[in-house]
Amino acid sequence: MKDEAIEISPRPRVSEAQAATIARELFGVEGALKELGSHQDRNFRIDTDGVRGVLKIANRGWGVQTLQAQNAAMLHVAKRDPALGAPLPLAALDGSLISSFEIDGERLPIRLLTYVEGQPLTGRRYLAPEVIADLGDVAGRTCAALADFDHPGLDRRVQWDLRQGEAIATALHGSIRDPQRRGQVLEATAEVQACIAAFVDALPVQAIHGDATDDNVVGPLDAAGRVRPRGVIDFGDLVRSWRIGDLAVTCCSILHHRPDDAFAVLHAIRAFDARVALTEAEIAVLWPLVVLRGAVLVASGEHQARLDPDNPSVMEPLENEWRMFSVARSVPFALAEATIRHALGRPLAARHALAHAALSEAGRLFPTIGQLAILDLSSTSEQLHAGKWLDQGTEQALLAAAAANGAAITRHGEFRMTRSRRNAVEMPETCALGVDVRLPPATPIVAPFAGVVRRADDSSLQLESSAGRLELSGLVPEVAHGAVLAAGDRIGHAGDALLHVQLCVEPMLPTPAFATAATAAGWTVLCPDLSPLFGADVAAPRDDAHALLERRRNSFARLQVHYYAEPMRVERGWRQHLVDTRARAYLDMVNNVAAIGHGHPRLADAVDRQMRMLNSNSRFHYSAVAELSERLVALAPPGLDTVFLVNSGSEAVDLALRIAQVVTGRMDVVAVREAYHGWTLASDAVTTSLADNPRAMETRPAWVHFACAPNSYRGAYRGAEARQGYAAEVAAVIDGLAASGRPAAAYIAEPVFGNAGGVMLPEGYLVAAYAATRRHGGLCIADEVQVGYGRLGHCWWGHEEQGVVPDMITIAKAMGNGHPLGAVITTRAIADAFSAQGSFFSSAGGSPVSCVAGLTVLDVIRDEHLQANAATVGDHLRARCLSLMASHPLIGAVHGMGLYMGVELVRDRHSLEPATAECLAICERMRELGIVVQPTGERNNVLKLKPPMCLSLEDADFFVDQLDTVLRDGW
Ligand code: PMP
Repeated sequence: MKDEAIEISPRPRVSEAQAATIARELFGVEGALKELGSHQDRNFRIDTDGVRGVLKIANRGWGVQTLQAQNAAMLHVAKRDPALGAPLPLAALDGSLISSFEIDGERLPIRLLTYVEGQPLTGRRYLAPEVIADLGDVAGRTCAALADFDHPGLDRRVQWDLRQGEAIATALHGSIRDPQRRGQVLEATAEVQACIAAFVDALPVQAIHGDATDDNVVGPLDAAGRVRPRGVIDFGDLVRSWRIGDLAVTCCSILHHRPDDAFAVLHAIRAFDARVALTEAEIAVLWPLVVLRGAVLVASGEHQARLDPDNPSVMEPLENEWRMFSVARSVPFALAEATIRHALGRPLAARHALAHAALSEAGRLFPTIGQLAILDLSSTSEQLHAGKWLDQGTEQALLAAAAANGAAITRHGEFRMTRSRRNAVEMPETCALGVDVRLPPATPIVAPFAGVVRRADDSSLQLESSAGRLELSGLVPEVAHGAVLAAGDRIGHAGDALLHVQLCVEPMLPTPAFATAATAAGWTVLCPDLSPLFGADVAAPRDDAHALLERRRNSFARLQVHYYAEPMRVERGWRQHLVDTRARAYLDMVNNVAAIGHGHPRLADAVDRQMRMLNSNSRFHYSAVAELSERLVALAPPGLDTVFLVNSGSEAVDLALRIAQVVTGRMDVVAVREAYHGWTLASDAVTTSLADNPRAMETRPAWVHFACAPNSYRGAYRGAEARQGYAAEVAAVIDGLAASGRPAAAYIAEPVFGNAGGVMLPEGYLVAAYAATRRHGGLCIADEVQVGYGRLGHCWWGHEEQGVVPDMITIAKAMGNGHPLGAVITTRAIADAFSAQGSFFSSAGGSPVSCVAGLTVLDVIRDEHLQANAATVGDHLRARCLSLMASHPLIGAVHGMGLYMGVELVRDRHSLEPATAECLAICERMRELGIVVQPTGERNNVLKLKPPMCLSLEDADFFVDQLDTVLRDGW
């Protein structure tokens, strides 16, 4: 076996001028040269007329046979998987694929390879799940393509071959400067060796690329600007070795991109497994080999740094390599194995299955306790309303209350909402791996199975058995360390403390009490359900959000779309946060309907009370309908003194249009382009947004006419032109209609351009539009469904901003805080004139419950000063979003005011090319960081910011800080 490159020598010294000479003399190629980074070789990209190549001047350590093997492997991969991008060797003028050239008195091997187009992932901080999956796929394809490749040059000793990993890490660890780090490398290497020893003989061996890392996969950019790996370069580490080494190397390279979520690598592992089905032994050793790869990287990186301190491609990655090593090491091998098995849909490891079987035979831990009350601490618990989940001591208090008449227990595997944290970037540790029990004092506790007592102290003990290590804390032990117990032997009794019970099937593994959503699948294998010990089913119900989504797809209209490709399941909201069923809390930046916040107890109580008393319709005489109408009139501008109550924004707009048509005796209506007003026949008719209906403009009825979208950022008139331009244009449309003998019944627009992402209308715009409409006897409708009701902070109504008074105001959304409620507010004269079409009746519009909901929302907005809050927090949010523009050119504009804003993303601030794909990808990334935000606008390139009006300054800062991070680190 060759022993190359173990004694690493520095890269050959070759200047650009020398490289140019080599390219010309050996290959007859001339062109611009650019040096590419390399640990050991000198590589130059050479651009000739229409052709790109890579001139590779190999380290003298390489044997010719090794280079021949690499060439043959590239040709082999191209044959086996022609669609996979990989370099190919090009013949020199003398016909050879490997030439040589004398440099500084030494003959060095020279090759010219084709250049694989695309970019590597180098320098990208964050890698999205789809990108990680692509990386795993490229690694898997390369590995599959090499499965039947053979060459005598494959058998060599190279430092990156993980079969030599222990030897290399041990040999080179002396170069590590920091003694603590040096110790970690040695310790990790020994742990790896101990773990993999039993499996090495069973590991498949073949030719592997050995270096399919973020640096060595390349691909095109997708629409969102992310590199999507499609090819692999650099066959320099080609070797015959364990096949799984290929995947271990790939996984390790991902870790520094996702230091807070090591299991993001599962996307790569799944993709690799789909190409190369992993064996049992391979799954067992994968994580240890990831750690070993990390150890080898840092040991050789430090070694190389000593030899070649001026080489930036050695020095720069070193800290990342340490990060990979420490992230890999932070995951226990057994946890990784259980998690990978789960992700690949494989059964439990045999030893874990045996332990679970032993556990199912266990006896009762408290034989004298007949019944245990089971406490629900999940996000759907009835006992965690009104923010109770946030109170310190809630778990203990609820458990004590549940145990009032005996004993009570929490559930295993439950994602406890009490463990959730708001505005947290990291996934919270919410999944209970054990249970907490409240027992009557002195309740006897017995061994549920035979075992040996370990580490007993005043309040805890461990019992080692064939089922695993049972840990009890919060009891009064009656046995000593080393005691050998039979099943049913007494081990202690309950004291005053809460008893915590947890079992780990891995005898030596330290376990946390709670796991994150990402690690829960693995940890609950290692710390299984303990139901047999209690004679009761204490396992939390399984929550399969994906299966539920399938049910939705099968029975609910699919065009009633959902946010996110793989949505989290959300069953709980509290104020400005949403909580998913994994008990992750998200800052909710989009729910303007929940204006006073989610789960408001005052609203819930009021609706509950009214529902128990009476819910009927407005043909009956009850107080709430009068009270709500009075309150709305009091909020409306003088003259608008009459209210119609309906169930939604669409209904309100529909009714307003109908009123206008009846009252004026005309049919035609002027609306602005790119607007959304609702789904009913009439409200849809004036909806011109192509985002919702790409055929909108072709399919509008003949009575609908359009003015330009008054968008001074990207519309027909911009900047200084906008003020005059739009005002003149809308007046011309309205005047033109009248001149053609069809004067408009109504002009309808939002007073802040909501569908464009909260774009403020140019000053004087509605003044001009309303004047033109009224000139010809038409009515003016302000659609305040989104922007009214105090959200703008500095005014209650959007039309105040424009200094106009409409003839009709339509409202909904915030009005019922999600309860279906809408209204038209108009003048008595207009309302009465509508009676030409008889009376008006809506069965649930204005019902007692609806009216009480509407009144309570108004009370809360007033009592909690939510409009003022929208002004303060909105101003702050706006200022901070604006400040991001200096460092992030992707932000083209910040629209809106108060808590109605849009952050518009553009690829170019001059062309305003919308960054649509980026916007969606950023929203996905923001969700990972604990924020719900969604694209809006005609081009879906605006981040819509219209959170519950109780958003706090800290929430606004959290949002902006995370947006800043995402824009900096990528998506
Ligand atoms: N008008 C505007 C401005 C809206 O934004 C909407 C809803 N997005 C509607 C009307 C329709 O309201 P609803 O969905 O309650 O029918």
